[in-house]
Amino acid sequence: MNRKTFVTALGTLPFIMKTMKLNQLEKIISPFGNTDTMPLLFVGHGNPMNAITENEFANTWMALGKIIPKPNAILCISAHWETNGTFVTSMEKPKTIHDFGGFPQELFDVQYPAPGSTELAFETKNSITKTIVGLDKDWGLDHGCWSVVKRMYPDADIPIIEMSLDYNKPPQWHYDLAKELASLRRKGILILGSGNWVHNLGIMDFNRETGFDWAIEANETIKKLIIDEDYQPLINYKSLGRALQLAVPTNEHYLPLLYILGLKEANDHLSFFNDKTIGGSISMTGIKLFN
Ligand code: ZN
Repeated sequence: MNRKTFVTALGTLPFIMKTMKLNQLEKIISPFGNTDTMPLLFVGHGNPMNAITENEFANTWMALGKIIPKPNAILCISAHWETNGTFVTSMEKPKTIHDFGGFPQELFDVQYPAPGSTELAFETKNSITKTIVGLDKDWGLDHGCWSVVKRMYPDADIPIIEMSLDYNKPPQWHYDLAKELASLRRKGILILGSGNWVHNLGIMDFNRETGFDWAIEANETIKKLIIDEDYQPLINYKSLGRALQLAVPTNEHYLPLLYILGLKEANDHLSFFNDKTIGGSISMTGIKLFN
């Protein structure tokens, strides 16, 4: 080693020491430790009754719960929690929210008593620099979250938090925000986006088994762009034409998808599940990204 190389190496030493200390510190601070990279899921949750009725969609969710490595905790981004600003739930015992009407009492009786995780709430808040994330003590688990997670993890033994959707922000902002959550995947955190990427309740036809032509077209367009990893048109979905405009009349059920796509890494593999349109105007299609 000549003098110049030696001096250069010396120069990097404080940085290496600082990095090591930070890593060690992080291990002490983080209760989750380091794990293999957890999969990412976008789930089309559909009808809240999927929480209690036997059907093909719920069967897939149950199977996913068995296939995926057991998470240390779950971070759920649900279509059903929109706020002014970004929040994470940070209570010890999140309540089961029955945020719907006109369903049988049996569904209102469902409780999903999974613990919360103030640790994950802090870890999520501290991961994000793009905005100030508020710690919420009032929300809980809405049906976009519990109707799916109850089927995946019926024992309710995995700590879970939700992160809200800031209704003031454009789709690109949500996609970019997601990237700041990347490190959570290596701490055993399952990040789950729950919505429906074709979701138009106003023109739904409950007697119809499959989707309208435009719903099928929108479902296929979205899938093709996901396969091609051509995400910019998906972010600018309003310019994708009539089928997408009908599929996404309001974007709360669509945005959770952008979080999952924002988190995709180069070596993630893609698979689809529950690939089906129903009731004219709903797509139940989900994606799993894993490496
Ligand atoms: Zn919904």
